[in-house]
Amino acid sequence: MAEILILAEHDGETVKKVTTELITLARRFGEPAVVWTGPGAEAGQARLAEFGAAKVYVAASPEYDEYVAAPKAELLAELAKQSSPAAILLPSTAEGREIGGRLAVKTGWGILTDVVGVGDDLSAEQANFGGAINVSSRVRAGTPIIAVRPNAVTPEPAPGAAVLEPVSLTVSDAAKQARITERVVQQRGERPELTEASIVVSGGRGVGSAENMALIESLADSLGAAVGASRAVTDAGWYPHQFQVGQTGKTVSPQLYVAVGISGAIQHRAGMQTSKTIMVVNKDPEAPIFELADFGVVGDLFKVVPQLVEEITKRTS
Ligand SMILES: Cc1cc2nc3c(=O)[nH]c(=O)nc-3n(C[C@H](O)[C@H](O)[C@H](O)COP(=O)(O)OP(=O)(O)OC[C@H]3O[C@@H](n4cnc5c(N)ncnc54)[C@H](O)[C@@H]3O)c2cc1C
Repeated sequence: MAEILILAEHDGETVKKVTTELITLARRFGEPAVVWTGPGAEAGQARLAEFGAAKVYVAASPEYDEYVAAPKAELLAELAKQSSPAAILLPSTAEGREIGGRLAVKTGWGILTDVVGVGDDLSAEQANFGGAINVSSRVRAGTPIIAVRPNAVTPEPAPGAAVLEPVSLTVSDAAKQARITERVVQQRGERPELTEASIVVSGGRGVGSAENMALIESLADSLGAAVGASRAVTDAGWYPHQFQVGQTGKTVSPQLYVAVGISGAIQHRAGMQTSKTIMVVNKDPEAPIFELADFGVVGDLFKVVPQLVEEITKRTS
């Protein structure tokens, strides 16, 4: 059975959820072979095995963490040459897309990004033009390079051997043109990371003030969710920009997206409309966001949200 190469996202110890999603997806097409860059593969091995990784190529050199994207693209190109995989899967994150793009240029193979589903023939579903058009595409040149959005696949455990296989390749000088000079660890509390969360609760201009975003946070916390915001909120300084969902913010695709006091502008939809279930709280029954909603509450968020929190807390405590 051909290998499917998967670029692992990890923090040196912990395997990011998107990696378990990609392994789950890869199992449908061949033998999942994870590519681990930098140190820490031993720490992540059990988790990779739990989701069915057959093999883990370990390029342990710290150089993979010292330079921007290019060394990882070079590594994937070299491994693909050796193992002739049926496909290469990457997370469709900012870094994953950059690595995939460089890999495509290096190899001359086709790349599909922002993929939300993969068919049996390795055709990829994409939501284009802000999600207004869904497209099914297939790579025609070489090995398909497919960058899949986080949360597009539900990770399902299946035992694998996850045999560690050291790779000793030297990073070329050409791949060392952009060095990472500083890393700042983002301070965040107990909430899950926005693009990885299975539930996201977002607040819009209807929330009315920075202080009132506490209401959105309380709903998020009752559900174990991440907090997001519309651009109206981040531009007003009510919530930090890193939480903005949309065309010029983050793209999320959780199991449940709760939009509170958000009208549903096309630029906001672009970042959330592939969410599996969408719930809306808005006082205007004509708000365009209701077109996307699986469940909608027409009402004042200041009345609806506290009741929601109370009910959820009752059921979960
Ligand atoms: C190039 C470009 C890029 C952009 N990128 C993004 C992006 O990445 N993300 C993004 O979000 N936007 C983006 N925008 C902005 C976008 O066009 C909208 O202006 C923005 O999404 C509106 O945010 P909102 O829905 O919170 O506010 P509004 O459109 O003002 O909607 C507020 C909603 O709250 C409801 N409401 C008010 N009070 C209450 C209440 N008490 N209870 C319940 N409901 C209430 C109202 O009925 C209304 O529907 C971009 C725009 C441009 C031009």
